[in-house]
Amino acid sequence: MTTRSCIVCRNKQEKKDLLRLVKYDNNILFDFSQKIPQRSFYVCYDKKCLNSLGHKKYSKLLGTNFDLELNLSRLKTYFINSIKQMVNISFVREKVIIGVESVITYSKKAIILLASDITMRSENKLLKNDKTFLKLPVDRFELGSWVRKTEVVATGITSLDSNYKDIIFHYQKVFSWEN
Ligand SMILES: [Zn+2]
Repeated sequence: MTTRSCIVCRNKQEKKDLLRLVKYDNNILFDFSQKIPQRSFYVCYDKKCLNSLGHKKYSKLLGTNFDLELNLSRLKTYFINSIKQMVNISFVREKVIIGVESVITYSKKAIILLASDITMRSENKLLKNDKTFLKLPVDRFELGSWVRKTEVVATGITSLDSNYKDIIFHYQKVFSWEN
């Protein structure tokens, strides 16, 4: 198990549970592959630690070109694209359930993805069930297109690879509070 410390809180964690940043051409990039051979440092997938990177204290390390907001938006795009890819793969493997009623009646463990414009009524109905939810910043039409439908407010993934589990877990830690 390879561990690294977060440059902000100094907590040691497994490398895969940290976000790697690399210095490249006077820019700081997130290295999602964790393989770019450049000087690097690590930060927690945590909104507090990530936001701290915008403090003056880190400007010497990160350089003045570091744009926190731009990098957070890149991170979000990366997560959403990964989740979209995950839904796509699951769809091909017939591991998705589509629609509020189907999600509610599905009895086994599943990860439920919700569109940003789901109605309160549907959301409350779903919340009564003991399931893992992730509300995404995509609307019902976008979520629908991921599963070849016109519009979908809730879709469930019934089986996930561990790397996608990590992506969902990390996404929740950084962005789920926005919903
Ligand atoms: Zn940290």
